[in-house]
Amino acid sequence: MPPGGRMGGPIMRGFMDEEEKKNAPKITGALIKRVISYLTPYWKQLLLVLVAISLSSVLNLMPSILTGKIIDEGLGKRNLKMLVFFIVASLLTNLGANLIGVLESYINTWIAQHITFDMRNQMYSHLQKMSQRFFTTNNQGDIITRMTSDIDGVENVITNTFRSILSNSITLVFAIIAMFSKNWIMALIGIAVIPLFVIPTRRAGKTRWALTNEAQACNDEINGILNETLSVSGQLLVKLFGKEKHEYDRYKEANSRMVKLNIKERMAGRWFFVVLTTVTNIGPMLLYLAGGILMIKYNSSLTIGDVTVLVALLGRTYMPVNSLLNIQVDWMRSMALFTRIFDYFDMPVEIKNSEIPVIPAKTTGQVEFDHVFFSYDPEREILHDISFTLDSGKSIAIVGPSGSGKSTIINLIPRLYDVCDGRVLFDGEDVRAIDLDYLRRNVGVVSQETYLFNGTIRDNLLYAKPDATEEELIDACKKANIYDFIKGQETGFDTMVGNRGLKLSGGEKQRISIARVLLKDPALLIFDEATSALDSISESKIQEAIDPIIESRTSILIAHRLSTILAADEILVIKDGKIAERGQHKDLVKAGGVYTELYNTQFKRIPDSEDGD
Ligand code: ATP
Repeated sequence: MPPGGRMGGPIMRGFMDEEEKKNAPKITGALIKRVISYLTPYWKQLLLVLVAISLSSVLNLMPSILTGKIIDEGLGKRNLKMLVFFIVASLLTNLGANLIGVLESYINTWIAQHITFDMRNQMYSHLQKMSQRFFTTNNQGDIITRMTSDIDGVENVITNTFRSILSNSITLVFAIIAMFSKNWIMALIGIAVIPLFVIPTRRAGKTRWALTNEAQACNDEINGILNETLSVSGQLLVKLFGKEKHEYDRYKEANSRMVKLNIKERMAGRWFFVVLTTVTNIGPMLLYLAGGILMIKYNSSLTIGDVTVLVALLGRTYMPVNSLLNIQVDWMRSMALFTRIFDYFDMPVEIKNSEIPVIPAKTTGQVEFDHVFFSYDPEREILHDISFTLDSGKSIAIVGPSGSGKSTIINLIPRLYDVCDGRVLFDGEDVRAIDLDYLRRNVGVVSQETYLFNGTIRDNLLYAKPDATEEELIDACKKANIYDFIKGQETGFDTMVGNRGLKLSGGEKQRISIARVLLKDPALLIFDEATSALDSISESKIQEAIDPIIESRTSILIAHRLSTILAADEILVIKDGKIAERGQHKDLVKAGGVYTELYNTQFKRIPDSEDGD
């Protein structure tokens, strides 16, 4: 009989809470087929596991069966040789079962690890194909959970749930066959006793589960009170409103409820154990009684050893029956896990490479927006009929109030999103037709939020061009006006930038990311100027870097500072997703429109020697 303490685990897992019941997956043939498709590549190993489980289940039953021989042939007949023989046989079968168990566990873990390895890779590569929209709308925590905990859960399903179903079913079937082969009447009596064990186990489990849930809720409430009233601001509020007594009473009440629940839960566990031991003892006693009646009254050929074997075998059925009853919940949970993972796999890839990808005849970085309309959500239009052309070697500055759609315009060029209507052309070809790798290779973006990986400056620079030479690194850094800073560091290019580049200032990060994009050497350079305030030295260093770059390259700049705007060949003024004005600084500033307003409120305030007015 399993000890009461150990029963707690499977029983507590054996019930689903309301949330789980509501979200229980629909188990369809297609779902099962799909799960199996992950197992089929490992069918040979799975077959081996099946054989090993069967063998170890049979061998595990052998000591129970051999007990009969020990009693009848050894003790009963007072035959020392037979006694020793069966004792050694019993020990050896047990050892054999355990050794096979080790092998089976190794193969099982191997299969589970390989299946999760396949799934992780598949998930990661699928996630990489997902669009910017996916990452902006989905919670990052959820994405990571799917990648980590959910896939780890699959490993658990294979090593525990599937294994448990197999080994418990096999053990149960073998135990019942063995019982019937000994004596069918006794076997029937034994089987009839099993429900006596199952019913109270399930009931007690349900009670404990309900009590645990209640205690959990009460515990959450207590934690809530503690968090609210013992925090700095909470404590201040309590003091200022003289609510000490009120809060104390609230706490005391929840606390006393918790005490009662804890006592109830512990006692339910205790009562459950009493019921369980009583009921599980009834089975063997009934078998002894029935065996005795058969032997004494009906002169059956049954031996004392046979009765002992039957009792032992009955004991071996309790655990598998209990596990198999609980497995239904594990099974539902496993299927829910697979469903969640498959839901991710099934999310359509929004930005796909064209079926027949085109490579433009000449790479110059020329861009054309042809009556472009765009919205993130159908309800709200963000860009309205945007048309402009940026010729090779020229530069455009995009200006406009915050939220007017400037970043959205540039997002459409490397296809972070696709237009809703109209076309974006790169070197004369629709970006949706161009080979995605080629397009992204030729469009370089320095975004407002500079992202640096945790590593050295060199690692971050080489991300753009892994085979860059030292000279190329130095050249790019000189152009980005960051080389002096790097040279001044004790470890030069090998200086660690810290998590997300936190060890560097905003300006330094920006200049490193400019150097990074210069190493990539794209045909079109997009620079989203940081709106966040940088000190004037940092600003002028960035400006010194940007000005010559713009001179020599096809570029688009989302500009917030006058000097950047003045360096561009044309200015596009965006307001409410439309091109409100376009032209040169001198003309726009006199026009008295959006640009004049921006100039008066934003640009003019930033001291700039190059004011073109
Ligand atoms: P800023 O100068 O402040 O960076 P911006 O002109 O670049 O602003 P965009 O970032 O293009 O403005 O945003 C334009 C509009 O689109 C804003 O109203 C914004 O709220 C909305 N928007 C931006 N990104 C998304 C998104 N991923 N999903 C839904 N709406 C978005």
